[in-house]
Amino acid sequence: MFPLRLLLALALAVGSCAAPTVSGPPSPRFVAIALGAGGGPGQDDLSAYLLAPAGSSDYVALDAGTLLAGIKKAWNAGSFRDLRPPADATLAPEGWILRERVKAYLISHGHLDHVAGLIVDSPEDGSKAILGLPSTIDVIRDHLFNRRAWPNFGDEGEGALKKYRYARLEPGRAQAIAGTAMSVEPFVLSHASVVSTAFLIGGGGAAALYFGDTGPDAVEGSDRLSAVWTRIAPLVRDGTLRGIFIEVSYPDGRPDHLLFGHLTPAWLMHELRRLAERVDPTNPAQALRRLTVVVTHIKPSLNTGPSPRERIAGQLAERNDLGVRLHVAEQGQRIEF
Ligand SMILES: [Zn+2]
Ligand SMILES: [Zn+2]
Repeated sequence: MFPLRLLLALALAVGSCAAPTVSGPPSPRFVAIALGAGGGPGQDDLSAYLLAPAGSSDYVALDAGTLLAGIKKAWNAGSFRDLRPPADATLAPEGWILRERVKAYLISHGHLDHVAGLIVDSPEDGSKAILGLPSTIDVIRDHLFNRRAWPNFGDEGEGALKKYRYARLEPGRAQAIAGTAMSVEPFVLSHASVVSTAFLIGGGGAAALYFGDTGPDAVEGSDRLSAVWTRIAPLVRDGTLRGIFIEVSYPDGRPDHLLFGHLTPAWLMHELRRLAERVDPTNPAQALRRLTVVVTHIKPSLNTGPSPRERIAGQLAERNDLGVRLHVAEQGQRIEF
């Protein structure tokens, strides 16, 4: 018979010895909720993600293709497990989350599959900021919240109702995202004939990078992705950058001249290899092993057979010689990284 005190001492000793040698994935620093993982056609699953530092319930929306339908699906799936609407709430959970927990919008470009939810849900939304490059804000002001396509819920132009505050971002400069504990620095992307944006978001001492639609540099005749890889390489190297959200719109096999400013699995891996070479030129194959890569904007097909999501997931798994933590997003999911 061992005295209880001795057993306790042994347990403590084992515990304290074991703890430092346990190695697993580091504790997550961000929570993302996929409100829309597709990229059109289809109106109910368009690009939109909520992001907050772990432990915070003040979210920023990364694009806003589908809002309420995605919030509802995520709520029913239990993905908002740390959120409790107030006991005296008169709003349904999805209304409370839209109005009270989504604190701001980061919009990558003005294409409808990235703003449709923001427009049609706006009458029931709360007052908050819409952040984007000046060219994106101008599209929203002039062509969407313009009193003709939709009431002007912005704070500029004819008949402005001033529900939303436009905030123009400047490439190369980080600025606070009002209402959250996060900051954002934008990068210009090339998306066929349109200027798109990547957002480097900082919060809680870590960072996440969200890409709006983008083509590969080689097809776009651009160096925009190259510039992003150069900027973030040190953040990958020191572990600050935890995850990247990036699009793969089509499965492999689609010819480059029909990409219309989008990526395929082969092109994504090509671009990630360029990042890996900047992170660790001596050992690029190991350079991205701590990085989570969330694949977004998969375009559904109207054909029978395996879905583009299945095909893309399979092709990426096969090509992933960098060992990145691939996560093919699905509407309603909670993603921690
Ligand atoms: Zn799109
Ligand atoms: Zn687009």
